[in-house]
Amino acid sequence: MAQTQAKTVEGTAPHGTGASESGNGRILEVQNPATGQTIARVPAIGTDDVAELAARARAAQPGWEALGFEGRAKVLKRAQRWTTDNADRIARTIISETGKTYEDAQLAEIAYAAQSFGFWAKNAEDYLSDEKIRSSSPFVAGRKLFVRYAPVGVVGVIGPWNYPLTNSFGDCIPALAAGNSVILKPASLTPLTSLLMQEALRECGLPEDVFLTAVGPGPVGSELIDHVGFVMFTGSTEVGKKIMERAAKTLTPVGLELGGKDPMVVLSDANVERAANAAVHYSMQNGGQTCISIERVYVEEPVYEQFVALVEKKLRALRQGVPGDPGVTDVGAITSPPQVDLIDEHVRDAENKGARVLVGGHRGDGPGDFYEPTMLVNVDHTMECMTEETFGPTLPVMKVRDAEEGIRLANDSPYGLQASIWTEDTDKGERLAREIEAGVVCVNDAQINYIALELPMGGWKASGLGTRHGKDGIRKYTQKQTVLVTKFAPTKKDIHMMPYRAMTTKLIGRVVKLLYGRGKRD
Ligand code: NAD
Repeated sequence: MAQTQAKTVEGTAPHGTGASESGNGRILEVQNPATGQTIARVPAIGTDDVAELAARARAAQPGWEALGFEGRAKVLKRAQRWTTDNADRIARTIISETGKTYEDAQLAEIAYAAQSFGFWAKNAEDYLSDEKIRSSSPFVAGRKLFVRYAPVGVVGVIGPWNYPLTNSFGDCIPALAAGNSVILKPASLTPLTSLLMQEALRECGLPEDVFLTAVGPGPVGSELIDHVGFVMFTGSTEVGKKIMERAAKTLTPVGLELGGKDPMVVLSDANVERAANAAVHYSMQNGGQTCISIERVYVEEPVYEQFVALVEKKLRALRQGVPGDPGVTDVGAITSPPQVDLIDEHVRDAENKGARVLVGGHRGDGPGDFYEPTMLVNVDHTMECMTEETFGPTLPVMKVRDAEEGIRLANDSPYGLQASIWTEDTDKGERLAREIEAGVVCVNDAQINYIALELPMGGWKASGLGTRHGKDGIRKYTQKQTVLVTKFAPTKKDIHMMPYRAMTTKLIGRVVKLLYGRGKRD
């Protein structure tokens, strides 16, 4: 059941329906969004199968934990090697189910996963080893105090369709390194990459049932929450709220990596050419279907015309088409069919409210789902393209009076995932970064922070809860346990123990005053 093999099938299916599920013995049809062809039929599970899957994962976990950091690192390092050895095979699987370009699959997915296997194999022990604690309290003098990080047991990872390797599978790697079993529920549109990685882990010696893929629709994810010790969710803010609500019933901790509306603020002293290149790349990369895409730009008046002219020219030069081999196209397809309507709605809404479409502005033609690389000007915050997540290849650019207005508008959003500030005065850039309400701010850069795995990444406001990467990116998959050991007790009865006597009570009072009562009064 859960250990499914994707089966490639011939022929085409009606396009635009996305994956479909049917009845018992459920079969999920996977389509290539760039061609509209059905590329696989995959057995899926239903909510009633989740408990059994979780029981298998739970039973397998102690053996995996018992391998220790070194034993687990061996498997992860083998998986790292497998990923680089099979890079082309993985890339083609990702491309076929997402419609992204070869380069988008290579850099932001395969390179990330390969790096991640090595990073967690190397650093898990450092981040999770017992931590010795020193206390200033005389009442625990002489005791051994430490904190240990115990795996939660089974981690449930629920992922989106835009990065089946990085954002779905990627979060499983630190969870495994911490000694947990993992059940991954990928998006129904893109299960093939997860199934391929399940196969890879098995080949690399991961014990049976330590990693399981739960292919199925949203309710399977919802059910999974009831059976795991931690839920790592990446997806929309709307579903993120439902995850938290469901997890409240069992008090299951959650990590939420949600939507974004990342602003770019270009100041008049910026290197405008570099800013224009970055605006084009980081809004169009992955067809704009990246949570940390540049989704809106604010440009200071003196360089606005120059910036717009440069971006327009560069956008016009981009090629869009069916992805496949390296270098054949720049902007790929839209992975989720309903997303095309949403992108178009945002463009039409902006036009109706007075925006001008400088480049693109239409759905692509052909059998696949595409939207043209699009640039909008004369935009403002009455328009959806400036306030709601578009998640497509669109770039609205707005003129602002000064940095202050740029920052105010950047913060005028329910989201707070990432942001970027562009200025040659990096001191000013750092100062302004502190005024931005977002989990990550780059100065003269964007997105690249994601591959520095030492850096925490996570959203403020409606963009999420908790972070991935760095120390907290693995500690979240554990439960803290504090241990206090009294090795040599100097007396048989400590001074604070019963029965109470006025003399000892007074003595303790004097000690407390002596220790803590010497601070200056205001
Ligand atoms: P989505 O929220 O629709 O779905 C995400 C996953 O949740 C899918 O596997 C889906 O089947 C499952 N799901 C749906 N309903 C559920 C429920 N009630 N309970 C449990 N699981 C449920 O998101 P999507 O459309 O697949 O992905 C796009 C969104 O993801 C965008 O908003 C994007 O910004 C966000 N995203 C965020 C990050 C980040 O790191 N912050 C990264 C990638 C994508």
